[in-house]
Amino acid sequence: METKTVTIKTYEAEIKQRHLPLLQESIDKVNKNLVKYNIPEVKILQKLESSYYDHEKHRDVDTFKLVLSHPTLIHNGREVTYVGTISFDGGIKKIHNVDERFVLGALDVKTLTCDHCHKALPRTKWSFFVEEGKLIHIGSTCSKDYFGVSVERLLDFWTFVSELKDKNDEEGYGYGGRSRPSASFKDLLAAILLTTHDFEGGYVSKANSNESKPSTANLVMGWLFPYFRGMGEIEKQAFLLSWDAGRTKAGQIIDEVKSLLLALPPPQNDFDWNLFEALFHYDGEGVTVLNDFVSFFGPAIYGIYKTWVDAHKPALVDDDKVKNEHFGKEGERLVLTGLRVVFSQFREGDFGVTHIIGFEDSEGRLFKSFYSGSDEYKLDSVYNLKGTVKGHNNYKGRRETVLSRIAYYVEKKGKKS
Ligand SMILES: [Zn+2]
Repeated sequence: METKTVTIKTYEAEIKQRHLPLLQESIDKVNKNLVKYNIPEVKILQKLESSYYDHEKHRDVDTFKLVLSHPTLIHNGREVTYVGTISFDGGIKKIHNVDERFVLGALDVKTLTCDHCHKALPRTKWSFFVEEGKLIHIGSTCSKDYFGVSVERLLDFWTFVSELKDKNDEEGYGYGGRSRPSASFKDLLAAILLTTHDFEGGYVSKANSNESKPSTANLVMGWLFPYFRGMGEIEKQAFLLSWDAGRTKAGQIIDEVKSLLLALPPPQNDFDWNLFEALFHYDGEGVTVLNDFVSFFGPAIYGIYKTWVDAHKPALVDDDKVKNEHFGKEGERLVLTGLRVVFSQFREGDFGVTHIIGFEDSEGRLFKSFYSGSDEYKLDSVYNLKGTVKGHNNYKGRRETVLSRIAYYVEKKGKKS
């Protein structure tokens, strides 16, 4: 068997002491695989006992501060750094990112070309790396050919270690295990209404919770999965009564909240993208639709709260002054004059650029397009546009028409319309 030249790097992580067996299991698994390819094994170099105080459970939590050694990846003699993966779990896109310089969620995996085979095929898993300063993407079935060794186990291991590090927050949702139960959107909303006093109470993260201020996620879990044991009959009846009231109210406002959620601004980082992917799916035409179920309580709560707060900021739209309406029919090719660029954002990395542009016509109708051409639409400039209606969305209470295949044109002189 050929011996690979690999660099060994170290990695620091703080994990709970009771998670150490899980980590050891994962190390054994990856090492079994590394030995096969004559690659140095993952080792725990240093293990320091530590602890922190958990305000909700009123006790110290014992942790280990670890220093791990692990092999790096080599391609054509060059060191390659792991960035993250995009995979699909039950149809929901999940982003795992260990390098905050990159926002993987903004990538359209449907059109992504593998940097190994140069094919754009649908994949269930993509891995991302930095090679010679450039972000590259490799389909999971190609990674073995690309590196000459099977690296999937090693990538899974890195993902696992950073998940262990994240587990402190996850346990704020009341479940330490890897599987989380799901609730209907209506129940989730009812629980949030009750725990935040109609969204007035504000969201409290696990990190910001203390003895007098429990985390929102824990309270929501308490409403969704109440512990009746130890509750008197009167308390139980009161609980159920308020729960029913919450559910009725949730039913009434559900449409409002749905449209508010759809009005969220584009995600800014991979945490936002994971929120977005858990809450929405695309309907095939690129229009966002809210998922019927939400299985990630914490992110869902945060997402709903954030939206609600944004929505309750001073009114954004004066309906008398602007035409707050959708325009055109889906599939229709529109010819539009005098569109002013009111929003312009580039989502970029070393991997290419997508330009999201918002336009407003003279009567105040909003249009949006995801543009990947090389021409630039400048903020505040006015264009005459041709574009095909892709769908209709809502953005912060305003209706907007999503256009595809946009192109600007110059009106011929002497021909007024
Ligand atoms: Zn490939």
